[in-house]
Amino acid sequence: MLNRPASKPNDLNAFWMPFTANRQFKQAPRMFVSAKDMHYTTDDGREVLDATSGLWCVNAGHCRPKITEAIQRQAAELDYAPAFQMGHPIAFEFASKLAAIAPQGMDHVFYTNSGSESVETALKIALAYHRAKGDGSRFRLIGRERGYHGVNFGGISVGGIVANRKMFGTLLTGVDHLPHTHLPEHNSFTRGEPETGEDLADALERIVTLHDASTIAAVIVEPVAGSTGVLIPPKGYLKRLRNICDKHGILLIFDEVITGFGRLGTPFAADYFDVIPDIMTTAKGVTNGVIPMGAVFVKKEIHDAFMKGPEHLIEFFHGYTYSGNPIACAAGIATLETYQEEGLLTRGAELAHYWEDALHSLKDARHVIDIRNIGLVGAIELEPMAGQPTKRAFTAFLKAFEEGVLIRTTGDIIALSPPLIVEHEQIDRIVDCIRSVLAEID
Ligand code: PMP
Repeated sequence: MLNRPASKPNDLNAFWMPFTANRQFKQAPRMFVSAKDMHYTTDDGREVLDATSGLWCVNAGHCRPKITEAIQRQAAELDYAPAFQMGHPIAFEFASKLAAIAPQGMDHVFYTNSGSESVETALKIALAYHRAKGDGSRFRLIGRERGYHGVNFGGISVGGIVANRKMFGTLLTGVDHLPHTHLPEHNSFTRGEPETGEDLADALERIVTLHDASTIAAVIVEPVAGSTGVLIPPKGYLKRLRNICDKHGILLIFDEVITGFGRLGTPFAADYFDVIPDIMTTAKGVTNGVIPMGAVFVKKEIHDAFMKGPEHLIEFFHGYTYSGNPIACAAGIATLETYQEEGLLTRGAELAHYWEDALHSLKDARHVIDIRNIGLVGAIELEPMAGQPTKRAFTAFLKAFEEGVLIRTTGDIIALSPPLIVEHEQIDRIVDCIRSVLAEID
């Protein structure tokens, strides 16, 4: 563990923190100053076990030397190159390596800097693709209730979280939503994929009947909804969605920002569910969370549609100053090598049973009303405190942090996604900590 002296800033005022209760936080700040493998160290020198991979991103664990060194080398050699009308070899090298592990046929990669940007890029590719094919009447985008697709305008429009939407006006027009797939009355305490709910995919047929297929460009879903509490798709649901999309010429976008890069014990959720989307958004694990980066994967047919116009024209009027940033690509290549050398893209499958048994041992713990798991993701849903939703889970988060385990909460749900290097004893520690914390809190 790196022993940096604790550094406490004197003034917390200037930094307006994202998705944080700023006033509360600044009364009692929680600070990490270093990290190694499965642990963070706080500014008062305590070790905290990371049960969330940061924000679902540090899949290979923290401060991995190979990744750190690759970043240092690249920063000294080529720090930045213009992203438009100029290239640098490492961006091409990384894209080829990403395409090589992608689901079959998803062999083109568009770089972004985050999950939110990957989502915007995917939605724009979908709309522009239909235009490029002369099918410009397809302008509608279909999301899903309880979907999280980042915070940009496209993402909150197709997303399904009211708090993220209600302050921001009319959002995108031409958007509709599928129902979410959370059916607690049927599926509570299911291990893995729930039995009930495949037919929820048929809501897409109703939307097609309402709007006509000729107006619908794409459907976007998270294969496993992460940020709204680990909602696992019912058996057969994603295949059915794929079939309905195919029947009507609608593109299917998987938002794999969380599920990508080994989270479910397969490289991507598309592999886990054996359903290949047309477009796939990723970020987070693409660089082990170390450097901001996202990557949108597209099928050859989609890429081809853009490449068919006159040669001298820019094919897609979209991109970011930092698309394919050399340092991010270096981090990405080193990350991918780490995943491959250590078998991390499939390690979740080896651990899934142990993880599942450990989580479900909390069935009789206080306040628990549901437990869900798949791959190396899990959720423990708590009964909300009367009149004070979210308070119980947040209190559990604070207590767990005091006891040396970082968990994450969303509403009254504890969401867990440890780095894919986690060991059995660390899984036990996470579960024991949650059990004791739940026993202590009201
Ligand atoms: N899509 C999904 C499925 C996500 O989980 C997230 C982030 N948790 C995003 C998009 C947005 O990613 P970012 O915060 O990197 O913009």
